Parts: sequence; C-alpha cells; structure tokens
Amino acid sequence: MNKCQSETMQDCGTYSCCNCGTNVSLDSTELLPECPKCGNDTFVKISDVCRD
Ligand SMILES: [Zn+2]
Repeated sequence: MNKCQSETMQDCGTYSCCNCGTNVSLDSTELLPECPKCGNDTFVKISDVCRD
C-alpha cells in the first residue's frame, strides 16, 4: 500500500491519486487540479521528473 498524504503540489513532477491511482503530471508551478477521474484532491508524488 502506498503511503499517501496530501501533498503541497507546487513542484513539477508526477503525482498519483490517493483514491484511484490515476497519474497526473504537473508541468510547472500550476496547482494540481482535482483528480480528473474521481475528483479526489489528495495525491502522492511518484516522480520528480519534469517534462520539458
Ligand atoms: Zn482519483
């Protein structure tokens, strides 16, 4: 089971929805939106890799 906590999503990278596991990529400093699939707003960061 993934450790899941509410992230302060200010860094680019990839986050995984705590509820359904949908991956959401954050490109810059925009705030991560709610999960597009389930509407959950807690995510765990799974990658620090930023898109160019
Ligand atoms: Zn979700």
